Amino acid sequence: MPTISEFLATKRDGSAHSPEHLRWFVDAVVAGQVSDAQIGAWLSSSYIQGLNTKELAALTSAMATSGKILSLNGLPHPIVDKHSTGGVGDCVTFLLLPILAACGVTMVKLSGAGLGFTGGTLDKAASIPGFRTDLSMDELIGIARKVGCSLGGQTVELAPADKIFYSLRSETNTVSSIPLIAASVMSKKLAANSDAIVLDVKAGSGAFMKSVDDARELATTMVEIGRSNGKKMAALVTDMNQPLAESIGNALEVRSAILELKSGCNGRLGQVSTALAEQCLVLADREKGLAAEVLQSGAAVEKLREWVEAHGGDPRVVDEPDKMLCGSPLTQAVFARVDGVVCAIDGEKLGEAARQLGAGRYRKTDSIDFGAGIQMHVALGDTVRRGDPLCTLYSSNEQKLAAGATSALDAVLIGEVYQQTPMIHAVIQ
Ligand code: URA
Repeated sequence: MPTISEFLATKRDGSAHSPEHLRWFVDAVVAGQVSDAQIGAWLSSSYIQGLNTKELAALTSAMATSGKILSLNGLPHPIVDKHSTGGVGDCVTFLLLPILAACGVTMVKLSGAGLGFTGGTLDKAASIPGFRTDLSMDELIGIARKVGCSLGGQTVELAPADKIFYSLRSETNTVSSIPLIAASVMSKKLAANSDAIVLDVKAGSGAFMKSVDDARELATTMVEIGRSNGKKMAALVTDMNQPLAESIGNALEVRSAILELKSGCNGRLGQVSTALAEQCLVLADREKGLAAEVLQSGAAVEKLREWVEAHGGDPRVVDEPDKMLCGSPLTQAVFARVDGVVCAIDGEKLGEAARQLGAGRYRKTDSIDFGAGIQMHVALGDTVRRGDPLCTLYSSNEQKLAAGATSALDAVLIGEVYQQTPMIHAVIQ
């Protein structure tokens, strides 16, 4: 095997790693034999030089098997998983899990914390008082058996290599790389060991893939990895040219998700969640229409309550989201400076604004202000008058509030013409 310096030089100088060397590196990372600086250097080289198909397959497999593969024996099959490539105001999981569980489809989902300017499902879940995501494998399975769905993260047992790479990619700004995203997502999905996987690949200003073509390439890459590992696969390329929910930030997004689920999923967040649920139902050989039924009957909301409680969370969040999931105490509204139409929203800038307010991390050790974030008052295509509020910012710190306000004002473009984009750009089956 090479020395670490030789291994780093290989990618830095534009050559390809052998599958054996990649496995050796991943094992050494998990064993704590590689420093954060060395991992960061390799991530930067891989970001710049890329990884070929053979390298990507080997890296994904080494990362998936860096811990255990979840044993799902004893749970009702088919078991379906879903993963988003990350966006702004993307809290689909809080709608999708209860919808599918209410339809009788099991889901054991491994998610991540915030990544770069995007929020993370684990951080959002942690904003629910008492909700635990640091579950052992037995606990994950136990909750799924009882409720039909459960949510965990990468641990020392499950996908530990992704846990290490993930936070360092966020710190080193090496997230938006097709092979690094594909290996991260698919290693978690292979470790979670479901029968079928639906991918929500985001495209637009608030996504890591800014163009639909790049998002399609990422989707196809991940679908191929899944199929070659025996999984039933589908991917939707969905629009991320504005926040998906009407809010950004951990507690605020969970509140938006609960309100959307309770009101029947007619907003953008609800429609994307329902489209993903329908794809999951198709892969599970169930009727697509079941999703609408459980929304109408209230079974999905009841399942949400059960799921929150099974994770140790306070189920009153479902009944009183406005009271239980509040914004941080300091607020500032951002106002339109001209009359016109909201013709572009820079999702990345808004995500960065939320991070500046305290909703995300710059270093893996940073703590999160769960109530920090942004409540949007406008969407693409809305007509505004000078002085109308565009959004309200929440933080616990005056300086962070001021920094977030500057970024947020910059993120909303008011002009004359707005060109509508579809909510779903492509379906890859
Ligand atoms: N989600 C992940 O799990 N990994 C990524 O790299 C991006 C989104």
